[in-house]
Amino acid sequence: MGLGRSRAFLMMASTIIYPHMTAFDAAHPVPFYAIGTPGQAWGPLEIELWRSRQRRQRSHRQDVLRVIDRLRDRFEVQDYGEVVYADERYPLQAVRVGDWRSDRPAVLVTGGVHGYETSGVHGALHFLEHLAQAYAGPLRLLVVPCVSPWAYERIHRWNFHAVDPNRSFRLPSPAAEAAALMELVEPLDGQFVAHIDLHETTDTDESEFRPAKAARDGEPFVPGTIPDGFYLVDAQPAFQRAIIDAVAQVTHIAEADAQGALIGSPQVDRGVIRYPLREWGLCGSVSSARYTTTTEVYPDSPRTTPQACVRAQVVAVCAALDFVLAQD
Ligand SMILES: [Zn+2]
Repeated sequence: MGLGRSRAFLMMASTIIYPHMTAFDAAHPVPFYAIGTPGQAWGPLEIELWRSRQRRQRSHRQDVLRVIDRLRDRFEVQDYGEVVYADERYPLQAVRVGDWRSDRPAVLVTGGVHGYETSGVHGALHFLEHLAQAYAGPLRLLVVPCVSPWAYERIHRWNFHAVDPNRSFRLPSPAAEAAALMELVEPLDGQFVAHIDLHETTDTDESEFRPAKAARDGEPFVPGTIPDGFYLVDAQPAFQRAIIDAVAQVTHIAEADAQGALIGSPQVDRGVIRYPLREWGLCGSVSSARYTTTTEVYPDSPRTTPQACVRAQVVAVCAALDFVLAQD
């Protein structure tokens, strides 16, 4: 079937099987996401319709690869693959800081596993440009600023196939972005002392991405709440505390809700929750590092700015590295 015919069929299908209001919707207080049929997981048609609604809004080449290019005289840039979607190719690049022939402690820093979480990408790049050199003597760093470039350009959580890379760190991986990072890290397994994975929690998680996920999976959407402030995901108390204390100097830390929870999970320490990293296929499980953390910056607060969010990510990375250095 030619592209023209399949497009026409999609448009027809969207008026027939995606009505705005159904009896199901009317019986439910939350309107159903605009793509799909309540109770039915998406098939290829719905995924194609979803994809046709995604617009390229910024340039990975301009914002990320150009900055990495400027680092080449100081650090080693490693091409670790590419993702190819339709007629677009996205080079995947990592930056190696410090002497990788030495046995100095190694730390992994990842950003943009969720492409729309902007301060993670720009935080990793800002750290590389302005602060990484100071750690090049005592440590080895592997920094991957933008794990999911297609989603970075579309300001989206999912990749081209409507798959969340940050539920895909398992074998076989359903996301090329996660598979490539796993392949990059695998030969270095056992060398990493720490891994910092840079994320955001945004208002669009509740208004767009969680409803889209429920629709994609054919499940009802259950509304949740978005915490106002920074928080961390993971389990080593002293490590998390060092990061929270440092970040609290530049942005406010989220407060637990009346149930003592942040985003539905019990708060185990100030601004800290836990997830089963490996079971959920989260990026935090990609190395067997002793100290791992996932930052969650909240960019939609009236109490913060895009610059402060980038600063929070950079401060979190530096606090984690300072903690590692203080262990020896
Ligand atoms: Zn995220």
